Amino acid sequence: MGKITGFMEYQRLEEAAEAAASRKQHWREFVMHLTDEQAKVQGARCMDCGIPFCNNGCPVNNIIPDFNDLVYRQDWRAALEVLHSTNNFPEFTGRVCPAPCEAACTLNINEAPVGIKSIEHAIIDKGWAEGWVVPQPAAAKTGKKVAVIGSGPAGLACAQQLARVGHEVTVFEKNDRVGGLLRYGIPDFKMEKSHIDRRVAQMRDEGVQFRTGVLVAKGQIDGGVTNWAKEKLDPEQVLKDFDAVVLAGGAEQPRDLPVPGRELKGIHFAMEFLPPQNKVVAGDEVRDQILATGKHVVVIGGGDTGSDCVGTSNRHGAASVTQFELLPQPPVQENKELTWPYWPIKLRTSSSHEEGAARDWSVTTKRFNGDGKGNVKSLTAARVEWKKDPQTGQTKMVEVEGSEFELAADLVLFAMGFVAPVASVLEGFGVDRDPRGNARAVTQGAGSYKTNVDKVFAAGDMRRGQSLVVWAIREGRQCARAVDETLMGTSTLPR
Ligand SMILES: Cc1cc2nc3c(=O)[nH]c(=O)nc-3n(C[C@H](O)[C@H](O)[C@H](O)COP(=O)(O)OP(=O)(O)OC[C@H]3O[C@@H](n4cnc5c(N)ncnc54)[C@H](O)[C@@H]3O)c2cc1C
Ligand code: SF4
Repeated sequence: MGKITGFMEYQRLEEAAEAAASRKQHWREFVMHLTDEQAKVQGARCMDCGIPFCNNGCPVNNIIPDFNDLVYRQDWRAALEVLHSTNNFPEFTGRVCPAPCEAACTLNINEAPVGIKSIEHAIIDKGWAEGWVVPQPAAAKTGKKVAVIGSGPAGLACAQQLARVGHEVTVFEKNDRVGGLLRYGIPDFKMEKSHIDRRVAQMRDEGVQFRTGVLVAKGQIDGGVTNWAKEKLDPEQVLKDFDAVVLAGGAEQPRDLPVPGRELKGIHFAMEFLPPQNKVVAGDEVRDQILATGKHVVVIGGGDTGSDCVGTSNRHGAASVTQFELLPQPPVQENKELTWPYWPIKLRTSSSHEEGAARDWSVTTKRFNGDGKGNVKSLTAARVEWKKDPQTGQTKMVEVEGSEFELAADLVLFAMGFVAPVASVLEGFGVDRDPRGNARAVTQGAGSYKTNVDKVFAAGDMRRGQSLVVWAIREGRQCARAVDETLMGTSTLPR
């Protein structure tokens, strides 16, 4: 523990950010990492608790008190080593993780928690700036070949771990660039894509091969899913060519809202709207890009995806942006006695919300209304209440009588989450699915991450359903160990 009285002396400091009005004019990141001196003071706030709940709250189990202490002592290189020992890509999580670790911080019981995410961000940015992040090629090759299908955070973490213990790893990606939702979901203003390119270069130097534009599946991929594949590969061929296969294809099937008027032009899934913008920022020519410029935009769904639609619409210059959420507005402040150390339900205002959006809760969309030429012009919505059914005890949504209202909408974006992985991928390999439609595989004990098909494993959103980057990294790492153990009989990779 760095400074014994640090938590009493110092206040939490948020990272500096460019003002909303100016950052809306561009697509670059606008959050600045802490300076060395600021990070030192923030590290000094850590109490090095006997039981570090933060370590358990973090899905990759980052060894948070240790790196806080090292930053307090300004031993940045050792801090980077500690951080990398549990997390392959802290530059991703240091930018986009919602930081469940901070909800679990002991200081969060009666104070603002330690700024763990901002310290992580500062460590890894310094690591890259100083040239400390270098390839770690395996000392010896095993001669085993592993195919990883999908290049999101789960696939990348898995591939890097496997390459570092000497396996010959090939990552197949149907899109034209590597990164999964880091590349073609999360906008550049939250995470610039050069961070992915830098890691990909490191991984190539560690021996990982990337094959983009290759769809590994049987059958076609359906609506609302990015697919820029130029080549199709039969799963049977992959099974013949590789000693193990990891399915890390994400949960790409978006939730639809099949109400009257759904067929009108101007109603899109978020994933039809966000990826083309990332392509434009990457310098690609995109035909028929869906633009929010001058439009009244309604975003249906209140999570990360919805928030990214708000930020993107504002940067396009929308006339207005409204975001609907079906659930009631959560409390501004959680009851910490009830929720700590768990992730609380509370009102979260993202940087995109700060840039301007009307937010409305307990709203259901009933129909879309056209302009007579096939375009959406407005929507009709109603207010709902959530009531407990006295017989079943279940909470049910009830429409408030006479609460219908109409709202102008020339662009409607669906951000209601993702239902499951695309069927054609799992069916192509003959992999069983759980009741939610995800690849069936357990994460504990013998056979962890293994599917019902010999030598086929599954990890990330494809196995656990729509989740977070940090969970995808955890699953990729753990799955790599399971693959290594299966191929070699034993493994030195972390559990
Ligand atoms: C818009 C948006 C914003 C988000 N924001 C955040 C955030 O701020 N913080 C956070 O923690 N999480 C966020 N998430 C969630 C997070 O991005 C995902 O949980 C995470 O990326 C899942 O990682 P994954 O590797 O399992 O899958 P993905 O990232 O979905 O990657 C899967 C990859 O597999 C490829 N693929 C699929 N099938 C095939 C096939 N048959 N052949 C070849 N390639 C295939 C896909 O093209 C894709 O590139 C967001 C999600 C979205 C949609
Ligand atoms: S990865 Fe996320 S949960 Fe883990 S320490 Fe970093 S910010 Fe916290």
